[in-house]
Amino acid sequence: MDIYSHPTFDMALRQFELVADYLAIPEGERAWIKYPKRALTVACPVRMDDGSTRVFAGYRVQHHFALGPTKGGLRYHPEVTLGEVAALALWMSWKCALVGLPFGGAKGGISVDPGALSPGELERLTRRYTQELAAFIGPQTDIPAPDVGTNEQTMAWIMDTYSSYAGHPVPAVVTGKPVHLGGSLGRREATGRGVAYLAGRAMDTLGLETPGATAVVQGFGNVGAVAAQSLVKQGFHVIAVSDVHGGLHHPQGLDLRKLEAWFAQHRTLVGFPEAEPISNADLLTLPCAVLVPAAMERQITAENAGKLRCRVLAEGANGPTTPEADLILNQRGDVFVVPDILCNAGGVVVSYFEWVQDLQSFFWSEGEVMDKLFRSLESAFQNTLSLARKQHLPLRTAALSLGIKRVWEAKKSRGLFP
Ligand code: NAD
Repeated sequence: MDIYSHPTFDMALRQFELVADYLAIPEGERAWIKYPKRALTVACPVRMDDGSTRVFAGYRVQHHFALGPTKGGLRYHPEVTLGEVAALALWMSWKCALVGLPFGGAKGGISVDPGALSPGELERLTRRYTQELAAFIGPQTDIPAPDVGTNEQTMAWIMDTYSSYAGHPVPAVVTGKPVHLGGSLGRREATGRGVAYLAGRAMDTLGLETPGATAVVQGFGNVGAVAAQSLVKQGFHVIAVSDVHGGLHHPQGLDLRKLEAWFAQHRTLVGFPEAEPISNADLLTLPCAVLVPAAMERQITAENAGKLRCRVLAEGANGPTTPEADLILNQRGDVFVVPDILCNAGGVVVSYFEWVQDLQSFFWSEGEVMDKLFRSLESAFQNTLSLARKQHLPLRTAALSLGIKRVWEAKKSRGLFP
């Protein structure tokens, strides 16, 4: 399946093979489990504000349907490729299975810099992409959600376009939409809050005190900014944060409220006067209790894994740590890794709640949503920790094993058709 060739897809396959060896999945059954069921590439012509027409490449990969419809985010980023999207779809599958959701994994993306398009251009691009995908998505087929470069507004446009074709409102076609359109209370914050919750649980497990402990967050978007706020609420001092343009460091702790006000006004962290600038590379190796990569894949590599000075690595991003870096961290043994498919699962858990609420047209309070979210994350954390301890496995292998085993068993029970 050369069509998926990409370093991030290779990374997802290497993780899979390691776990397949551990689970003793027969060689003959592996391709059936790992390769996506369906992948679509679409050309999206868009009329630009200056009257010209540009064509953007869009993708959607649906990994498997053994447990239910597929579910996964939609990414707008200049470096999006089919292989990257496929890797993210695989991780969504293992994640949904780990936390017990009735979904297979999916992911979508458009190769575009959303910051370079006007709101009108973005809307036309999103609607065109949705129209191209209309036959392949739906509440019982595949349900997109926000990811890097997309947000509630993007989901609202998808819902509106899809509903126009259906001839009636179909809120359950997407999650992460505005609450007034059938979105769930707590969805916007779910991933970041979940990351902070699990970082706190990792600290408890290590016997470390949270109040006054330090945290560093790479990425200041939906996941990173909310994780930083939630960590502060738990008593952490967030001493450094960053976005794609660079980072900020304050050894005594950043004033996040002032920083957010600055960010809201300038749309970048750069230039904030009450902290020192720091590069993204240096930020990752700052001494701290908790490091949260919450930006892109492959940030922790063989080059910097030996230099990390955190006790807990709470992976907010998908795929932030390469297999080579994993080997180094496993050998070191002094970094408690909360792996991505567990650590950032809060987003898809509340997306599932949103889908359920939409299908029932019966909505829950934020307290109910959060209570169910933390119970779900706690149970996945306990299951992962207990398997890791019993079998002397790294937490990533344990989490992936639980997810992959469930998908494998579902596929075997359903059998091959015809
Ligand atoms: P976002 O677009 O809201 O924010 C991304 C942030 O990362 C921005 O601050 C951006 O400036 C920064 N960034 C981009 N490239 C960077 C780089 N090379 N170095 C440093 N910073 C960089 O995206 P998001 O929704 O917060 O997603 C972040 C990560 O979390 C992604 O890996 C995504 O797949 C994952 N994730 C998101 C959700 C969700 O609910 N949104 C759920 C699970 C996982």
